[in-house]
Amino acid sequence: MKSQSKLKSKKPNKPDRRPALRKPPVLSLNARRELAEALLHRLAEANPNPRCELYYKTPFQLLVSVVLSAQATDKSVNACMKPLYEAGFEPDTVIAMGSDGLLKKIRTIGLAPTKAKNVFKLSEIIIDKFGGKIPRTREDLESLPGVGRKTANVILGEIYREPVLAVDTHVFRVSARLGLQRETTPEKAELELLKVIPPRLLPDGHHWFILHGRYTCKAQAPDCTRCILRDLCPSVREEKEKEKK
Ligand code: SF4
Repeated sequence: MKSQSKLKSKKPNKPDRRPALRKPPVLSLNARRELAEALLHRLAEANPNPRCELYYKTPFQLLVSVVLSAQATDKSVNACMKPLYEAGFEPDTVIAMGSDGLLKKIRTIGLAPTKAKNVFKLSEIIIDKFGGKIPRTREDLESLPGVGRKTANVILGEIYREPVLAVDTHVFRVSARLGLQRETTPEKAELELLKVIPPRLLPDGHHWFILHGRYTCKAQAPDCTRCILRDLCPSVREEKEKEKK
């Protein structure tokens, strides 16, 4: 679910002349709880039914797409997988294709050889150990090849609606800019965010932060001017104040 891609244009980057984002202050736990509530309510009002942007029709297909999306964009995964999913794609389909057959279909996705092997192996395990069903516990999910904590959280939230938070690059960056966490790894950030985001705003909080990061609070060019969180955000650019001088 890589969001931030390399610039495709070969033109040299223009220097960013906009003012830098502010550095968020250190906030107390209570202040972060209040802020998280206000931010997520604002995002929820704007998008009451946030959706995963990976295309899928079954839990197994979502699992495969999340595994394939590591270090790749959702768009590239959807482009390869949507036709396969439309035609029916379950663990026995993968076994019939074989690892090499799957690799031919997903060549345009980053790290395709390793991912094809992982999807083949996890399909075998899902058939042999889990009766063809996607496991429901974190431990069982993380026992599958290519499935780490973030992928397990996506499945637990999206399929089983558990109050979990998958922290990808967008959630990590956006939550830091919003002053909700100051951690150094996604895993630590997840634990910190779970202290401040009410369970009733999960698992959708994951989608709200991802979508906000993908389309507004982008890594290289956060669009503070049009951001619906700008009055709540401690990192907002100081453009107005500078313009007055
Ligand atoms: S885009 Fe919005 S959330 Fe991101 S830094 Fe600017 S004001 Fe804050």
